[in-house]
Amino acid sequence: MREHYDVLVVGAGPAGLAAAQAAASRGARVGLLDAQPRAGGQVWRHDVRLPAPRAARRAIDKLQGVEVLVRHSVVAAEPTALRVETPQDSRLLSFGALVLATGARELLLPFPGWTLPGVTGAGGLQALAKQGWPVAGKRVVIAGSGPLLLAAADTLRKHGAQVLGIFEQASADAVRSFAWQLRQWPARAWQAAGLRLRLAGVPYRFGSFVREAVGDDAVRGVEIETPRGVQHVECDLLAAGYGLVPNTELASLLGCALDDADTHPRVQVDSLLRTSVANVHAAGESCGIGGLAVARIEGAMAGLMAIGDTAAASAWMPQRDRERRFDALLARHFTLDPRLRTLADDQTPVCRCEDVRLGALAGFGDARAAKLATRCGMGACQGRICGAALAELGRFPRGAARPPVFPARLATLAGLATLPSDAYRGS
Ligand SMILES: Cc1cc2nc3c(=O)[nH]c(=O)nc-3n(C[C@H](O)[C@H](O)[C@H](O)COP(=O)(O)OP(=O)(O)OC[C@H]3O[C@@H](n4cnc5c(N)ncnc54)[C@H](O)[C@@H]3O)c2cc1C
Repeated sequence: MREHYDVLVVGAGPAGLAAAQAAASRGARVGLLDAQPRAGGQVWRHDVRLPAPRAARRAIDKLQGVEVLVRHSVVAAEPTALRVETPQDSRLLSFGALVLATGARELLLPFPGWTLPGVTGAGGLQALAKQGWPVAGKRVVIAGSGPLLLAAADTLRKHGAQVLGIFEQASADAVRSFAWQLRQWPARAWQAAGLRLRLAGVPYRFGSFVREAVGDDAVRGVEIETPRGVQHVECDLLAAGYGLVPNTELASLLGCALDDADTHPRVQVDSLLRTSVANVHAAGESCGIGGLAVARIEGAMAGLMAIGDTAAASAWMPQRDRERRFDALLARHFTLDPRLRTLADDQTPVCRCEDVRLGALAGFGDARAAKLATRCGMGACQGRICGAALAELGRFPRGAARPPVFPARLATLAGLATLPSDAYRGS
């Protein structure tokens, strides 16, 4: 089945919602795709116990004239069409212009015990709780880096979890300086202050990270490296995430240039959010980690650019530039402690899908060679977790994306006109 849209938007998070609305407001036929069952993206992920936040409801209500296609995963791309898998079938959706608003995912780093049941990402546990996974009464340690730790703690407490502490790897000085400079973005400063207030009483420790998760059939406790020595904390759940990494796989398949491709890839865009490929625009966290405000602004800009309204898009530039300055502040103050790269030993699984241990990767020069010999990165997550982790550990540069972006049915793969002849060996 092939359908055509003037503007196709991938990702129904804040950036994609704003893009679709901006493009549709000028009469274009707009399709908005998301792999998730509901629009909203990461920050506005539906919480089963609560009504959607007002801002999310407003953004979704404004989608008049947009065809919202949820549970549609884009698994491959051709120059003017996307191969999409739905629960029922697969489709080829062609477009006049494309907006990539594919967001970001958490960076997870391996350490002994990180694959024990009960150990998740920080945003990962937040998402599970919102989807109804019971955390009430559970003792939770939150660890890693960045503002998402606070947001996750807040959500988990709302769901009845007992948050024992938030262990931030950045130093106290770095976090204090970050908080001080937040005053340049008053809305973010208020949001942070609100979170801190709601989390009053929850220990927030700096310069601290989990060395090891211990337990037999599930996590029972964690060993935490702190500036005052190693601390043991008993817990039922550990939520550890080390910031976010942009989802660039689809952009890469389309041939879009990436900045920092080997280590911290993000979609390269110009000041009007054009990628290096004609008629392909990108917005939000796929272009760099900047948070909700920049995602919404860039979404509107990219939607306007997709329908050719350069003048209207340009009007957003000063606001966009100001919000994007936040990226550098975040990166500078939450730089990862080099000791985090030394926690995994040879016995630590790095590819949890295929159970490949770090020691098994010794001697391989690049991710592809390691993958072909060990199956590292060939499992259900398609290297999303281990690929980013190994790049962060300095083992291999991030490999180029290959179709399918997500695991797909054979019938879908059979329809991939552009599948390279060796793709089955590589993915
Ligand atoms: C796990 C997690 C939790 C977060 N929680 C918070 C929070 O509580 N508070 C906060 O302020 N910020 C949070 N953030 C940060 C958040 O990402 C941004 O603030 C904001 O959501 C970015 O908007 P976006 O539109 O760029 O991307 P996102 O909101 O990430 O939306 C991208 C969308 O693209 C879809 N997508 C990606 N690839 C494909 C594909 N190939 N096919 C189909 N669909 C695709 C995804 O399903 C997703 O819905 C979180 C981030 C993560 C990763």
